[in-house]
Amino acid sequence: MNKNDIIIIGAGPAGISAALQLRKFGLNPLIIEMGSVGGLLRNANKIENYPGFPGGISGLDLSELFKEQLDKAGLVVNNQEVQTLDYKDDTFFVKTTGGEYTCKYVFIATGTVPKKLTNLNLLENFGKIYYDVSSFESTTGKKFYVIGSGDIAFDYALTLSRKNDVTILNRGMKIKANILLEKEVLESKISYFENSDILKVTDVSDGLSLDLSSSGTEKSVKTDYLVIAVGRIPAKGFYSNLLVSMELELFKAGRLYLIGDVTNSSFRQAAIAAGDGVKAVMRFNEKIVLVQE
Ligand SMILES: Cc1cc2nc3c(=O)[nH]c(=O)nc-3n(C[C@H](O)[C@H](O)[C@H](O)COP(=O)(O)OP(=O)(O)OC[C@H]3O[C@@H](n4cnc5c(N)ncnc54)[C@H](O)[C@@H]3O)c2cc1C
Repeated sequence: MNKNDIIIIGAGPAGISAALQLRKFGLNPLIIEMGSVGGLLRNANKIENYPGFPGGISGLDLSELFKEQLDKAGLVVNNQEVQTLDYKDDTFFVKTTGGEYTCKYVFIATGTVPKKLTNLNLLENFGKIYYDVSSFESTTGKKFYVIGSGDIAFDYALTLSRKNDVTILNRGMKIKANILLEKEVLESKISYFENSDILKVTDVSDGLSLDLSSSGTEKSVKTDYLVIAVGRIPAKGFYSNLLVSMELELFKAGRLYLIGDVTNSSFRQAAIAAGDGVKAVMRFNEKIVLVQE
């Protein structure tokens, strides 16, 4: 099998574990990643449910270990974005920002993208509205509003609150974050408001002006940044129309594998994603490699 017979799209926990498992079978996949090794996990404040780290580990530190492991295994990550994935004449065509590749097997490990808020005309090019916190590692003394009530919103708020003033707005009445995150946030200096929504966002010279409704009362507040974490959807926007219609058929034929958050609906956790990668490659090995021998 040639190197380019197998392409993995995405180098988060799912793509990395698939790549390492393929190495165990003596195969050398081409990995394509548009961001950095570790994927979404790089945003995680502290991971306490990934085996092997009794004191927990930050998402960034775990990602660096992933990178080291890939390097040691001789696996190279191509830093390109996949723009289109198509399929024709028994071959996948992968068009990226760096060129075009063909291959026989594809592992999709592209994770998720944030859901956008549709009730507001949010002009993201303000440069003040974000869907993750990776740009704020060294930001200090700023005011942030975070919208959301799940693990990600609460984790983002904790990360930002180390050096900044943070308020969480929960549009509902129920906290969806896990109990540890809930406790940590409610015991921290982070301000938290339920039944609160943003009605209007206005760009002002020194930040954003937010018109809010909070428990029935309307008010206007100033902030430097707004971070939106109201859910995520699978990242498959690069599929060609034909691929959308053939996904199931190619999956059943053992040619296309979906692993990790991209296919796990609400079961989005690093250990599940890593396990998916290993399992998919073992299935691939049984179905494809053994058949070819
Ligand atoms: C704030 C936060 C805290 C978290 N805390 C925890 C925790 O404590 N414990 C836990 O287990 N999990 C946690 N998670 C969840 C965990 O990060 C995910 O479950 C895990 O990263 C999913 O792995 P994945 O490989 O499926 O996808 P991802 O990690 O999302 O990786 C997908 C990769 O694909 C790349 N990609 C996407 N599209 C393309 C394209 N078109 N071309 C090229 N590359 C592409 C992306 O750049 C990305 O690197 C947390 C997540 C967040 C955001």
